This record gives sequence, C-alpha cells and structure tokens, in this order.
Amino acid sequence: MLDDKLLERYSRQILLPEIDLVGQEKIRQASVLIVGCGGLGSMVALFLAGAGVGKLTLVDADSVEVSNLHRQLAFRESDVAKPKVQALKDQLLALNSEITVTAFLGRFGVDPESDTGLLGDADMVIDATDNLSSRHAIERSTRIMGKPWIMGAATRLHGQVAAFSQSRAEGCYQCMTPSEDNSRGFDCRNEGILGPVVGVIAAWQAQDALLFLSGKNLEWGVLRIYDATQQRIDRLVVTPRAECHAS
Ligand SMILES: [Zn+2]
Repeated sequence: MLDDKLLERYSRQILLPEIDLVGQEKIRQASVLIVGCGGLGSMVALFLAGAGVGKLTLVDADSVEVSNLHRQLAFRESDVAKPKVQALKDQLLALNSEITVTAFLGRFGVDPESDTGLLGDADMVIDATDNLSSRHAIERSTRIMGKPWIMGAATRLHGQVAAFSQSRAEGCYQCMTPSEDNSRGFDCRNEGILGPVVGVIAAWQAQDALLFLSGKNLEWGVLRIYDATQQRIDRLVVTPRAECHAS
C-alpha cells in the first residue's frame, strides 16, 4: 500500500476521480516496456516515471548524439556518446528513486527469444521506434503474447497515435498499415522534426498508458492524426481487414 510519503508525492494525481487511490496502486504495480528511447520514448518514460509506474524496461541500441538534444529533453550535453538506455535510466531514477528501471542495450524485433523475455511481465508496450518494420515486429510479438500496445510516430510537423488492445478485436496495426516498406523514408533523420510535436505525441501515449494502467478502458483501434501546421486532429477508425491473417 501507499505510505504517507507516496500519498503526498502522487497527491495531485490521486485527487483525480479517474485515478484515485485504487488507480495509483495499480500504476505502482504496473510494468511497461518502452521500445525506443529517442524523442518519443524518452518523453514517455519521463511521464511514466514521474507518475510512479513501478517498473519500466527500456530498449534501444543507440547512443545520444548532439542532434538529439533539441527534442530529447531527458538527455544532457554530458550524455552525448553514452548509450541512450543508460543515460535515460539514470535520469528516470534521479526523478523517481521509488521505481525500478531496466535498461536493455539492443534492438527489439531481431531475436524472438529476447523479445519474449523483454515482454515478460509487461502490462503494456509503448512503441517509440522510428520505422515500420519495428512496429510490425511489436504488433506480431504483442499479439502472440496477448499484450496491449500504443504506437506513436512523429515527423516534421505531424504525428500519429493509436492503441491496440490485448484481443485485437478492433483490428491490428497490420490492418491499418499492411506494408512493411520503410523505403519512403519518413524519419527524423531525413525529414526533420520539431521538438514539441514529438512532445505532443509522447504526452498522448503516456496519458493513454496511465489511464489504461489505472483501470480505464481505452478507445482501441482509433488512429489519431495530429497536424501542427493547422492545429488540427483527425481520427480514423481502424477497420479489421478480412484478408489480414493477424486479426
Ligand atoms: Zn489485422
């Protein structure tokens, strides 16, 4: 149970009828796997650590680069050249020493055995990768393991978020994006990205994760598309495809 110190720490969150003491306790006992520790993953991780998610597992193979610092605000100049998972773990534990953070230096979707181990006791998976093949790998492994996940993507001044349930009754990522072709090259490296746009999408993923972990149901299978140039949000409801072998 939450002691007085934790009650004070999370008081503004516990005050919300949507969270309450019961939801906070569920958040404290929750485990989340965050795949990718760049712009999305680092921001989602900060929100979840701050909110008191009991166990976070971070996966990323890259090191911090100077060109990350304009948007990946969890990192400091002194983190440049350090593995992102280690630098992020240090920041998260400095923010909240009550939680457990595990850092995995490597890629998700390369070794099925390793993926299964990483998914282990996760209650939810956050996609914070930057390519279609990684998202399809997350879709496949979370479907097999029966885990819900939240995809997120951001480039230029646009972003997308969608959540998929444990059952995939609403359809799946493959129904929404059948192609695994990465060649169109929509990534930050060659398209550019504005920091706050990543922040919007990461905040949205973290918000959905916290509501789910505290016991709320999410609107599964709805792709939310954010366009900062028009300050506009569009919604597309995913339709399960009959020909999709995944659903
Ligand atoms: Zn499908």
